[in-house]
Amino acid sequence: MISSVHRSTVIRVNLKAISKNIKQISEHLPEHVKRYAVVKANAYGHGAVAVARHLANEVDGFCVSNIDEALELREAGITLPILILGVVMPEYVPVALTHQLTLTVASNEWLTLALKQNIPLAGLSVHIKLDTGMGRIGLRDADETNALLKGLATQGVNVSGIYTHFATADEKDQSLFNNQLAHFKTHLAALDYVPECVHASNSATTLWHLDGIFGAVRIGLAMYGLNPSGGDLALPYPLLPSLRLESSLTHVKQVEVGATVGYGATYTTKEPEIIGTVSIGYADGWTRNMQGSQVLVNGERCPIVGRVSMDQLTIRLPKVYPIGTPVVLIGNDRGDCITTTDIAVHRGTINYEVLCLLSDRIPRLYLED
Ligand SMILES: *Cc1c(COP(=O)(O)O)cnc(C)c1O
Repeated sequence: MISSVHRSTVIRVNLKAISKNIKQISEHLPEHVKRYAVVKANAYGHGAVAVARHLANEVDGFCVSNIDEALELREAGITLPILILGVVMPEYVPVALTHQLTLTVASNEWLTLALKQNIPLAGLSVHIKLDTGMGRIGLRDADETNALLKGLATQGVNVSGIYTHFATADEKDQSLFNNQLAHFKTHLAALDYVPECVHASNSATTLWHLDGIFGAVRIGLAMYGLNPSGGDLALPYPLLPSLRLESSLTHVKQVEVGATVGYGATYTTKEPEIIGTVSIGYADGWTRNMQGSQVLVNGERCPIVGRVSMDQLTIRLPKVYPIGTPVVLIGNDRGDCITTTDIAVHRGTINYEVLCLLSDRIPRLYLED
């Protein structure tokens, strides 16, 4: 989709904040630990190419979820290692070889299928994924992993890493985390050999479980300055949110008492009120359940009244403002602040989802310093 640049709704991405977060996180890691920046899903809505270009000299590699996300980075001139976290079907191995992408292999069935399809695997770089309790992808049994290691080696595949993923690293209760960690260590100990790069840490593990850090970390949300637990666990050190969402008033009017606003006429003014309109809606990822939440105008909280439409929403203003007046949907405004996590709490979801839903229609503008 072409982004709508002739409109005041914009995402401002502070690239320097991302660098500072990585630096901050790195200072709490042992020296030898490699840092993989997770830029899947368009870098959590921040823009994968801009973020990856900015970080090219600050991290050891990137993680994405699929081949196309990796190709976008390669086409943008990114030459660092790229690990694809999801399963790529064997038929696309030639693309991975051409573009030097590291694949995740999560089962013996994958190798069997590749052989059946006569896919040449020599020279391919892979990391093996172990399922230690996440229950999504990965091998659960060390005998199977040994068979896979052998099978891949026979085909000339370079198994450069092995990893797992924690399901509850962002929770207060550490029992499943400890269980998974123990499983991972037992699984590794039973292998004929352990590939060079062992890793297990997403943001939450990196922040709260130093015992889960092996040879590399895969940092996603924390590098964008947000708390992966929402607010359940306190951050061990401060992080700077890197994304701001702004728009402006496109229409302002005084309406009489008893006037209705929006589809379904779900809001009726209780007194003469001032209603402002903003050019953002659910097609931008500002979902319909944002009705009842707030935006900032001139540092004051204004409620979203009436249903959120596809392209517009309406707010109640404390006074008449001229059209063009800035509206802050995520970020600071004169001492007050609406965070991505606040939005998530209002929606009954997680800050990750709020970021990922921000659609391509909203242009991303980059602040380098
Ligand atoms: C998305 C993802 C990450 C990054 O998670 P954050 O919580 O954003 O740090 C790490 N590892 C895997 C396997 C993932 O899918």
